[in-house]
Amino acid sequence: MQIKENIEALEKEYQEKLKNIKDLKQLQDIKTELLGKKGKITSLFKLLKEVPPEKKKEVGALINSVKAKFEDILKEFEKQLTEKELEEKLKKSKIDITLPGAWVSPGAPHPVTATLRYISDIFVSMGFKIEEGPEVELEEYNFDMLNIPKDHPAREMQDTFFINKKGYVLRTHTSPVQIRAMLKQKPPLAVIAPGKVYRKDLDPTHSPMFHQIEGLVVDENITFRDLKGILKIFLESVFGKNIPIRFRPSYFPFTEPSAEVDIGCTVCKGKGCRVCKNTGWLEILGCGMVDPNVFEAVGIDTEKYTGFAFGLGIERITMLKYQIPDIRLLFSNDMRFNLQFKGI
Ligand SMILES: [Zn+2]
Repeated sequence: MQIKENIEALEKEYQEKLKNIKDLKQLQDIKTELLGKKGKITSLFKLLKEVPPEKKKEVGALINSVKAKFEDILKEFEKQLTEKELEEKLKKSKIDITLPGAWVSPGAPHPVTATLRYISDIFVSMGFKIEEGPEVELEEYNFDMLNIPKDHPAREMQDTFFINKKGYVLRTHTSPVQIRAMLKQKPPLAVIAPGKVYRKDLDPTHSPMFHQIEGLVVDENITFRDLKGILKIFLESVFGKNIPIRFRPSYFPFTEPSAEVDIGCTVCKGKGCRVCKNTGWLEILGCGMVDPNVFEAVGIDTEKYTGFAFGLGIERITMLKYQIPDIRLLFSNDMRFNLQFKGI
């Protein structure tokens, strides 16, 4: 029978061809030649209609078996060739594990962030809780309830950024967080409020946006001695055990009595220099006993409770600690400057 001979010839031809194939591309070509839509085995099925009916079954089975046979052979070849190609590829691309790796420069916190975290940690270790408040603040919380009435010069003194929405300002200090904390929680209370504040100011020591940290303690029998003790621990933690500290009487609307705190100049050690304007002292923070008017505004019993508050500028501490001459360097985003503080 012609068709049987055709199949045998085809088998022989391709057994021979397969002996010489070298890669997957050649294998794919053979696969198409045999089993593709117009492939030689596929075409055999078309010849079936010329086969007499009594032989159809036998011939059909024969074609099917040759088809299955080649499918198996091709699959086996494909497996072997894939392995061979992978092996060759691996041999060629040897990895030299002694070469140094690509350098990725690690980041570092901004000096202001680092100082803020450092200071927060000192107070948290003494039992203070961290409080946060919004930067767009109610005028009432930023001024009125802090004993700063409408006609008070402090409102101009602070050169406030007023915003379009009536009754709101960009907070000029972190003190409104004190109000929020006292409205939320009854005494005893020990909180710090770190965050951004805004004033219309720009020169080597002032920026329109800067960071403050505010502290507030309210309880029975809190005195100025407690305030002095807490601030002493804090300042010695930042500037060293023997740093000279002095309290000067001052005025803030929300504290009475009020004081400003100086430390001995860290640059000249008290001898007098340009940084301390030859006084030997550096102004570092403001503080005082909470004014009873503030307690009344938030509904705290002034007969029963007393408290103290303090506030300081983070940038100023950062500048003094690392002797940075211009506040604007902190916000220039110059990597040569920022990376000097890596690991502080
Ligand atoms: Zn000095």
